[in-house]
Amino acid sequence: MDIDSHTRPVAVLGFPVEHTLSPLIHNTAFREQRLNFVYLASAVRPADVEAAVHGLRVLGFAGANVTIPHKQAVLPLMDEVSEQARAVGAVNTIVCRQGQVDVDVVKLYGDNTDVAGFLEPLRPHADALREKPMLVFGAGGAAHAVAYAMLTAYRPERLFIVARRQEKAIRLADHLRGFDEARALTIPAQRAVREAVRESRLVVNATPLGMYPDVEASPWPDLDDFTPDQVVYDLIYNPVQTKLLRGAAARGAITIGGLDMLIAQAACSYVQWTGHEMPVDFVRAKLAGHFGK
Ligand code: NAP
Repeated sequence: MDIDSHTRPVAVLGFPVEHTLSPLIHNTAFREQRLNFVYLASAVRPADVEAAVHGLRVLGFAGANVTIPHKQAVLPLMDEVSEQARAVGAVNTIVCRQGQVDVDVVKLYGDNTDVAGFLEPLRPHADALREKPMLVFGAGGAAHAVAYAMLTAYRPERLFIVARRQEKAIRLADHLRGFDEARALTIPAQRAVREAVRESRLVVNATPLGMYPDVEASPWPDLDDFTPDQVVYDLIYNPVQTKLLRGAAARGAITIGGLDMLIAQAACSYVQWTGHEMPVDFVRAKLAGHFGK
């Protein structure tokens, strides 16, 4: 589809944005479905976030993605936010909506599609995971979305948060306390982490440990602790198979890589901007080509 005077722009706002795969994902889907949209990557300095968000309103954008380091900063700039975005405290998707009363007024709706994007690849395992113990490595932005998703979708009997800085794990737990009716959130002492990993039916890496170029790193190198009745999920998508996933698979665990979540969260944004379901299999094939698989 040629760019013309009807083309609706979408952008990812972040800093830096050079390595983002979002333009590849969305432009592949727009072209495949012949939708008159174009997706750009905009490097926005922290001091310019408010101006950039206002730009979406007045420049005819269909919406935007928001990535590091702006996901928290844009939340108060929205006219309305989804329950997930409010709970996680971060917006990764902005939808520009026509005002109900004055159609010339653009209202900004903020969502967090990392929550649904994380859960989508786990759907075949949902029944086996319900109310079981779970564990997250990391206490940053993605860990907030993952822990919220686990609490609300599975009501685990225990949800262990393992972070290198205890105070960040405590902050995460405090933030999500309102969604933890079963008082599952637990921050294990260092000496108790091994037992927590062994006990957990779902183990998630929400740290950058193992990401290119540091591909020999892992949040849990002790592979003897993994068993066939566990699901091990790494949010990292580069490489597609991390050291953690290779090791867990060798012990018989079910493994899920970050590419599936990346595509699923993108699909949740795409449908809100375009009204069309993303052709996810086509996009996945294109990404596999990108990673040389
Ligand atoms: P973030 O907000 O920067 O949080 C990263 C977390 O990892 C923090 O708790 C951080 O601890 C911890 N960490 C960083 N380096 C570490 C190390 N060397 N050892 C132990 N812990 C370490 O980042 P994020 O947005 O949550 O992203 C985390 C990972 O998830 C990234 O790899 C990102 O690419 C991936 N992700 C993937 C998707 C997807 O769709 N597949 C979506 C979102 C994120 P400190 O606070 O102490 O630094």
